[in-house]
Amino acid sequence: MYIAMVSAECAPIAKAGGLGDFIQGLARELVNRGHMVEIFLPKYDVLRYDRIWGMQKYYRDLWVPYYDQWIHCDVEYGEVDGLKCYFIDDHARENFFRRGKIYGEPDDANRFAFFSRAVLEYLLKAGKHPDIIHCNDWQTGLVPVLLFEIYQGLGLTHTRACFTLHNVGHQGVVGEYILRQVGLRPDRLMVAERLLDPFNHRAVNLLKGGIVFSNFVTTVSPRYAWEIQHTDQGMGMQEVLERHDRKFGGVLNGIDYSVWNPEIDTQIPATYGPDTLPGKAANKRALRDRLGLQEAFKPIVSVVSRLDRQKGVELIRRGVDYALEQDCQFVLLGSAPDPAVNAEFWRIKHETDGSPDCHLELAYDEELSHLIYAGADMILIPSVYEPCGLTQMIAMKYGVVPIVRRVGGLADTVFDANYSDKPFEVRNGYLFDDLTEAALESALGRAIGLWFRFPEYFRQLRVNGMRADHSWHRPGQQYLDIYSHIRA
Ligand code: ADP
Repeated sequence: MYIAMVSAECAPIAKAGGLGDFIQGLARELVNRGHMVEIFLPKYDVLRYDRIWGMQKYYRDLWVPYYDQWIHCDVEYGEVDGLKCYFIDDHARENFFRRGKIYGEPDDANRFAFFSRAVLEYLLKAGKHPDIIHCNDWQTGLVPVLLFEIYQGLGLTHTRACFTLHNVGHQGVVGEYILRQVGLRPDRLMVAERLLDPFNHRAVNLLKGGIVFSNFVTTVSPRYAWEIQHTDQGMGMQEVLERHDRKFGGVLNGIDYSVWNPEIDTQIPATYGPDTLPGKAANKRALRDRLGLQEAFKPIVSVVSRLDRQKGVELIRRGVDYALEQDCQFVLLGSAPDPAVNAEFWRIKHETDGSPDCHLELAYDEELSHLIYAGADMILIPSVYEPCGLTQMIAMKYGVVPIVRRVGGLADTVFDANYSDKPFEVRNGYLFDDLTEAALESALGRAIGLWFRFPEYFRQLRVNGMRADHSWHRPGQQYLDIYSHIRA
């Protein structure tokens, strides 16, 4: 099969979170199975150019419709760890992709709507006919709409669209002008069954457009699929997902074990696996060294996260204090897009600066994230909602015991050490339900108690997590089944 993946992110060259890992991991799995995958991205100025091999101009003078004019683009091509990537390079006055960041600009909707149209225009002009276009999140929600409203009629006749929802909390709600920007007809599309936003009847909802117009819609875990159809986690999308129930399902993400595997990880000081677990101790020492923590008989509780309200920042804050009260060490790696949250964590950082047991690193740092997974004993993920969550899966692979709130993909992957209907060999962490400090303390307290008092059981929990299979093998097959289904 020939699959075109269209996305705002792809690890390791343009990653803000799990979407980047998803594209890299699924693409690699499909390529390994012999399929042809091409990844389409904006040519951001912040791409990790050092990780792109053989970057070159591939297609010159792509003129992309923009209102009643055209914008001049080129398409560049390069390989990222053997994956084929095409980059839309706009020469617009607005400099859509030269903003020093991936997201967070006031005109994000314009930027990504333009990108969506540019990708389809390129496929058409270059004579490419993918079997599947796999789109992701609201940024590419217009791709399926454009495909069926415009490009099918122009020649992309057999291409089918699959759309994956990585986070329904971001929907791309924007004025009707966006449709005119990309050449779509507002009179056809601004209706309840199509792109009209459920809360604002003057606005277009790009995520909803992707849902309505795709041949199949997935989200990143079965539990989240249920939550967004049946609870307010759907954030207004419940009705449209119910209506399109027959083409909707949850596929649990995998993680890319060629990137996330302590047995072969070149970014950590000492490799180890479930049978060589004592090797993890060297990484714990290296982590303490790097962050200026003392050597002591204490577990390291960690957080690696975007510091977004979705991630439960209030509980993370409580987690810092509670872990220190319980005689643990605490390490946090996180970046906060919201200035208020950022200021709050800087305040905590200043308060704990110089502590031999606590370090907050307020940055995005891929390499440090590997060292934290390798060196930490526990990871805290108290999310308000969590579509899938990769951090718990990565952490488990590195023998880190997750303490998580029972939501979304966290509930699908973490099984409580004490309270679970699963056999002991698959129990791998601690869960709590309520979004309260008491609930968090109870679960974290159980984990810390086990570390101090029953180290052998704690080791077993680590090993259970390390042995779980969260590779892309099974989800890769599930996506292929979906692609085959919609092609037929
Ligand atoms: P989300 O996509 O909501 O951010 P996920 O758990 O699905 O959450 O994916 C998070 C990914 O981003 C993981 O690979 C994690 O290691 C990485 N990550 C999050 N914050 C940072 C950070 N500050 N520095 C480095 N990597 C980070």
